[in-house]
Amino acid sequence: MDKLGVFLCTGCGIGEAVDVDAVIEAADEHGCSSTLTHECLCAAEGLEAIKTSVSENGLDGILVAACSERAKTKEFASLTEDGLVMFRTAVRDHCAWPLAGVEDCDAEDITMLAQDQVRMGLARLEGMKPFDPLQPEVSDTVMVVGSGRAGLEAAIAAAGMGHSVVLVESSDDIGGLLAAQKSIPPEEPPYDAPQVNPIPALVEKVKATDQIKVLTSTNIVKIDGQPGEFSVELNGSSGLQMKVGAIVQATGAVPYDSANLGHLGYGASPDVVTAQEFETMLTSGSVTCPSDGRTPKRISFIQCAGSRDPEHLVYCSSECCVNTLRQVQELNAIDGSIETAIIHKDMRAAGLMEHFYLATQEKTGVMITRGDVSGVQANGKLSIQLENSLLGDNVAIDTDLIVLAVGMVPVAADGELIRELHDSRHQAEHSDSSQVRATSAARAEALAHHEGTEILNLTYRQGPDLPALKYNFPDSHFICFPYETRRTGIYAAGTVHAPMESAQAGEDGFGAALKAVQCIEMTKRGEAVHPRAGDVGYPDFFLQRCTQCKRCTEECPFGTLNEDEKGTPELFTLRCRRCGICMGACPERIISFPDYSVHQVAEMIKAMEVPEDYEEKPRILALMCENDALPALENAAAHGEKWNPWVRIIPVRCLGSMNIIWLAESLSRGVDGVILIGCKYGDDYQCHYVRGSELANTRLDNVGETLERLALESERVKLVELSHDEFGRIPKILDEFAEELDEMGPNPLKGF
Ligand code: SF4
Ligand code: SF4
Repeated sequence: MDKLGVFLCTGCGIGEAVDVDAVIEAADEHGCSSTLTHECLCAAEGLEAIKTSVSENGLDGILVAACSERAKTKEFASLTEDGLVMFRTAVRDHCAWPLAGVEDCDAEDITMLAQDQVRMGLARLEGMKPFDPLQPEVSDTVMVVGSGRAGLEAAIAAAGMGHSVVLVESSDDIGGLLAAQKSIPPEEPPYDAPQVNPIPALVEKVKATDQIKVLTSTNIVKIDGQPGEFSVELNGSSGLQMKVGAIVQATGAVPYDSANLGHLGYGASPDVVTAQEFETMLTSGSVTCPSDGRTPKRISFIQCAGSRDPEHLVYCSSECCVNTLRQVQELNAIDGSIETAIIHKDMRAAGLMEHFYLATQEKTGVMITRGDVSGVQANGKLSIQLENSLLGDNVAIDTDLIVLAVGMVPVAADGELIRELHDSRHQAEHSDSSQVRATSAARAEALAHHEGTEILNLTYRQGPDLPALKYNFPDSHFICFPYETRRTGIYAAGTVHAPMESAQAGEDGFGAALKAVQCIEMTKRGEAVHPRAGDVGYPDFFLQRCTQCKRCTEECPFGTLNEDEKGTPELFTLRCRRCGICMGACPERIISFPDYSVHQVAEMIKAMEVPEDYEEKPRILALMCENDALPALENAAAHGEKWNPWVRIIPVRCLGSMNIIWLAESLSRGVDGVILIGCKYGDDYQCHYVRGSELANTRLDNVGETLERLALESERVKLVELSHDEFGRIPKILDEFAEELDEMGPNPLKGF
């Protein structure tokens, strides 16, 4: 990048806070070809002024020193339509707003920060390259796996958006478990009675839609490739091979194994049945006790059978409470003389289902009570012992039939465990170490029972299925990207996604279809899907210098990289989320993006001025994750929060993209401390790239030792977890770190 221009906005309080001439002088000293100040760069006249300067001076890169990158996006993006390279530095949000009016912060401090921002921006810009967007040949077909409510709705929605759909079902007909149900809970006003099961009509619609190809008795043998161009091999009657652009996994859930519910009487008496077994009676219109065929006088429904139980499924299965209300109403319609008792831990009939709850409660002979089931006696007569019940402590309810509202278990593969099984088997056979061979063989044996649970059969280095959370629901950043999984272009919907009832599964299928179609359209344009939606840059691997250390392939959270036999990474670019975690991991520093690389950030650090006079001007570098930490900081600035003027901010895509060399570079230049601010990690992670901040933390463990060897305190580098809504913590975090550094004194390498 040869000819660079700097455009400094003086609006939004910037002009009053900083010495504009001094900032422009810093840009000139850096050797840029053209500079311009304007009181409103984002307005039509400001943008026009930039365009004129670009064409008159033949600029090939521009630095816009104005507001946050997240503000006025459309306006400034219009400047890059012809391939012009642009970098934006937030002089307003990182300098003018948080520093103006701060006690002990004079005009010189504010201007020094703005000058640094311009120097650092120019250094970054010099290393940036124009984008060369991919233009893949993308299949428009959406493959839906599983044909329950979510799968059917997904197929209909995708077809409705003009896409061809392949609906793959392993059983011999479509409709899923819900098809066997007499009715469903109400989805329309007045929400007080069961409603017609929509599955038959949905099945009919799917079968009548030309764009939807239905393949029953079919399983997936293999999925190769990447979003836009997945290559799928199917077995079964179809024996097909096809290309698809995106995939919706809607494989549903099955009831929890009732054999584990002996404590609730299951297996001890034929008159203890599951909700599914009871449904068969309702559908037949004849409700009798299986033991002797008599009509029961009282039926008791035990809620949370296996759910919300630390010994079984710890989660709420979400649909059972409302389903029981429906079964009670259906029963009441068949024979209103049968008494019913619903025993619950607490009834979860949320939102409009409150109407359904109240209407059911009004039916003759219906009792709904809270209580903990302490035991079920099944010798001769059935009796349920209750504790902490509204009816009193230690009461017993005699009954003729018990219906267990059994929890749900997702039909998902054991994903990463299967990969671990394959890896262990490989090691057990091929490792040079007899010890590794022995431990791997033992591990493979322990994992052997996961074999055969594969569903998608992805040929990804990181396993054949979607990585799952603790209870086997697919892993995803549920707050920001509810449909996403850790495999780009593959979306989970319905009860395999999370416990949910029928109406929600329908909406979920629709939502997943929208995401699948969005993925196809964005992939066509060579754009990343999320969270860096629209980014047309992608990682470049300079493989001549690759040492096959496998760090990138192991650490990529999205399965983007396979490996060849020697361990050299094989990049499937369209699977990539552009997080840069591989870039942070690579010890050879050979992975880079056109607008983000180890070198570019290192150059920014070098461009910072680090005064030797610590007393007056200590320096702190803050590497801030662009997903939560940076928006939090900018939110804090917008809310008038203030912090100390020693901090220099470099936004990073994810803390996982942090390369250790940046820390070494900063500290060796005399920066007094480096603070990394990123997302929360752990079981309830908030990291948009799943493991980024956790990986950064692991890398820091190794940095500590290196710092001690250099006679630097390891506390000079600190990692802080922060979520977007905690913006009020920003000043405290930065000021506290400044105080901690002050106690340590200046970086001893300062001035060398
Ligand atoms: S940028 Fe992220 S998603 Fe892409 S290959 Fe690297 S680690 Fe994987
Ligand atoms: S981390 Fe770098 S050196 Fe290691 S395998 Fe990946 S590209 Fe090669």
